[in-house]
Amino acid sequence: MNQPVAAKAVASVEMWVDGKRRRATASRFGDVTNPAAGAVTRRVPFCNAADVDAAVKAASAAFPAWRDTPLLRRARVMQKFLQLLQANQQELARLVTEEHGKTLADAMGSVQRGIEVVEFACGIPHLLKGEHSENVGSGVDCHTVRQGIGVCAGVTPFNFPVMVPLWMFPVAIACGNTFILKPSEKVPSASMRMAELFKEAGLPDGVFNVVHGDRETVDAILNHPGIHAVSFVGSTPIAKYIYETCARNGKRVQALGGAKNHAVVLPDADLEFTADALIGAAYGSAGERCMAISAVVAVGAAGDPLVALLKKKARAIMVGPGEKEGVEMGPLVTAQHRDKVKAYIDQGVKEGATLVVDGRGLTVPGHESGFFLGTTLFDNVKPGMKIYQDEIFGPVLVVLRSEKLEDAIELVNRNPYANGTAIFTESGGAARRFENEIQVGMVGVNVPIPVPVAFYSFGGWKNSLFGDLHVHGAEGVKFYTRTKVVTTRWPHQDTPAPGLNMPTLG
Ligand code: NAD
Repeated sequence: MNQPVAAKAVASVEMWVDGKRRRATASRFGDVTNPAAGAVTRRVPFCNAADVDAAVKAASAAFPAWRDTPLLRRARVMQKFLQLLQANQQELARLVTEEHGKTLADAMGSVQRGIEVVEFACGIPHLLKGEHSENVGSGVDCHTVRQGIGVCAGVTPFNFPVMVPLWMFPVAIACGNTFILKPSEKVPSASMRMAELFKEAGLPDGVFNVVHGDRETVDAILNHPGIHAVSFVGSTPIAKYIYETCARNGKRVQALGGAKNHAVVLPDADLEFTADALIGAAYGSAGERCMAISAVVAVGAAGDPLVALLKKKARAIMVGPGEKEGVEMGPLVTAQHRDKVKAYIDQGVKEGATLVVDGRGLTVPGHESGFFLGTTLFDNVKPGMKIYQDEIFGPVLVVLRSEKLEDAIELVNRNPYANGTAIFTESGGAARRFENEIQVGMVGVNVPIPVPVAFYSFGGWKNSLFGDLHVHGAEGVKFYTRTKVVTTRWPHQDTPAPGLNMPTLG
């Protein structure tokens, strides 16, 4: 197995604290690699408790003034940040491709989805409006306000270096909070660039901070009494750990976990259209998407023709470095992850599944050290097999067969993951039944990956979410604010005389 090649001297990524780059005091470092080249490009510090404490101090100091900043002024900073993200979308996408490996076109799309959350956050004056009831008692009124919580933190995965952080911090900050982001140590650079752009947009120092690292850094966040809420996106075991630790420490928490997303294909579906949709959803971003379709449940007569189409289309996918024109699928993020996915393919063969397309052994000329793996397709997979049970998080699609729609629904509902699912059919009745009975957080009807829509919320059920609220949309605003109920009576009303001028807002 080829391992990353260490460059002679690589620069260290810094932290972003109180509006500037700052060297971490950490003594441990990790390698950041370019997965297409298989080479180490940067070092990333694994921030210690003192580094995290410095970020918390900056965020705590910035909180009172930011909380009291008028809504329209906060929204204007968001609008400027939005413009800067749009102007720098290419550069951010290039950083995503460089450190994650996905194609540039896919990286552009993912950055766009993140930018849309900032667009949503620009509407914060409207989103924070409370409720008001007159005369809940005689001469007594009641109203609610939504107030920021304080210092919030976000811990994010490697697969969306821009989009997933943007699910969190724009909403938190628009709500009047300050924020500490701990991006994945595999892809740290895009977060640093976003911090610079946010400062350029006029965000006061200390409102947004970035620390880097692994478990030590995350534990320092989870155990710091100055942090009041934690948002997490990553794998299920870590999501559960984050949820339990935050709950024990009295912090508000939302922890989005892993996935095994099923697509149920009925015999009446347009199979050519369905196969194209499944190929994109299974192999896009080399399967490293939480909404990737990784299991297809082919119902009845759909099975054989669907597998034949998937085989033809999976084989035709062009694999190579993400920045190269025409490439449809890039490498996996690290050598270790590529080897883990490969081991799952070996296991699937041992377990007796039918290997229809084998991605092992693929080499990309000129990129022999890159962490590439070809597209892989298994048929006749059974629920007891590891390749069905585990989230593989690579370009491996497994096909299971079922007799009827009800069997397919039962199979999906038995799976402990419940992030996303889709049905492909021409029947409105079957689609409605699926939507109604399926125990999954996000559902597509003839849509393989229901992509995050900023003004709706995003999140799964069961082992794909620990906590109560999804990210962004109305649920994101709820997560980052506390409701206060105010009951008012004015026995001796004494209103000041109004002036002649219309007051100036903001
Ligand atoms: P991961 O769980 O390994 O890491 C996520 C974050 O947790 C990183 O910042 C990492 O540094 C930190 N971390 C890792 N080990 C830790 C530990 N022992 N204690 C504390 N923190 C730790 O996930 P990943 O490999 O970076 O990302 C892939 C996973 O994320 C997949 O399971 C995927 O499904 C999931 N994901 C889910 C969603 C969703 O919306 N549900 C979205 C994107 C990715």
